[in-house]
Amino acid sequence: MNSNDSDIVKSILLSAGHEQSKSLEEATLVLLNTCAIRENAESKIWHRLAYLNSLRRRPGRRSVKIGVLGCMAERLKEKLLDEESVDLVCGPDAYRDIPRLVGNSIRNTGLKEANTLLSVEETYADIMPARDESSCSSFVSIMRGCNNMCAFCIVPFTRGRERSRPMQSILDEVKALIQANVKEVTLLGQNVNGYHDSSAESALAYPETIYMAANGFDNLYKSKARAAPGARFADLLDQVSLLSPELRVRFTSPHPKDFNDNVLQIVASRSNICKRYDYKHTNTHTHTHTHTHLLTHASKFPASFHFNKVCTCPCKVEARACS
Ligand code: SF4
Repeated sequence: MNSNDSDIVKSILLSAGHEQSKSLEEATLVLLNTCAIRENAESKIWHRLAYLNSLRRRPGRRSVKIGVLGCMAERLKEKLLDEESVDLVCGPDAYRDIPRLVGNSIRNTGLKEANTLLSVEETYADIMPARDESSCSSFVSIMRGCNNMCAFCIVPFTRGRERSRPMQSILDEVKALIQANVKEVTLLGQNVNGYHDSSAESALAYPETIYMAANGFDNLYKSKARAAPGARFADLLDQVSLLSPELRVRFTSPHPKDFNDNVLQIVASRSNICKRYDYKHTNTHTHTHTHTHLLTHASKFPASFHFNKVCTCPCKVEARACS
């Protein structure tokens, strides 16, 4: 997710007239895109900031600006602004504001700049990420935020509420990637299979769709918005996988409760949708249940699924379900 966000920030800065430097030594602006989900990720950023500050003390380097973006910026705004090394702080929903923050920071030497407002609408749908053109695979962000409020997780507070990109903007991006010879796309979202395009166009095209949790799960987050018509994740997978039979389609990170029969049916019926999933959205308490549930559930469909546990739960479950 952060890799894709960095490409979005790069695209915004290039459009605003900035250039990408070839090395850290040449840069006049250094931005760190951060994660706050693990303590280790945060400590790496503190070390990196100390290193960057030491570079800034070298002769001729005092004017280099340093910014912190992403989840850590959202969570630790005040603490970061107290750091000598940090000139600007920008949360994950405020990337469009980065050129203004950078401009202010350059003009008002000594003053710090920040924007950590979360949005219920921002999906950066109209921004084509500035991706590495030599790569034959690409990430495509389809939704942002999470409403699930798992007791141990900070994501709903650093990334905000769930919102999904209009399906047409995703299809346009994937078509452009196919034209650029990309052979594999990974659809991205914190709760990727909770995707729901509730725009007016989508509601017209998909008037009948209703929210359907996987068997054995309840809709934990009940809202009128979730009950509204519009394309769901299975509909999006259907359309993306039809764009080219040669395109491999992956997605991450799925939540077990949104792995309903419609999603599994599409995955099973399309040869170009990859059938291995890393499901990390489970806590220790529900993990075994979820695993059993997914295996039972997947075995109803005529395809081979591989669910791979990536959390640190002690049960060490990893298994394959084939029919
Ligand atoms: S579903 Fe995943 S991202 Fe959302 S709150 Fe739970 S663990 Fe965090």
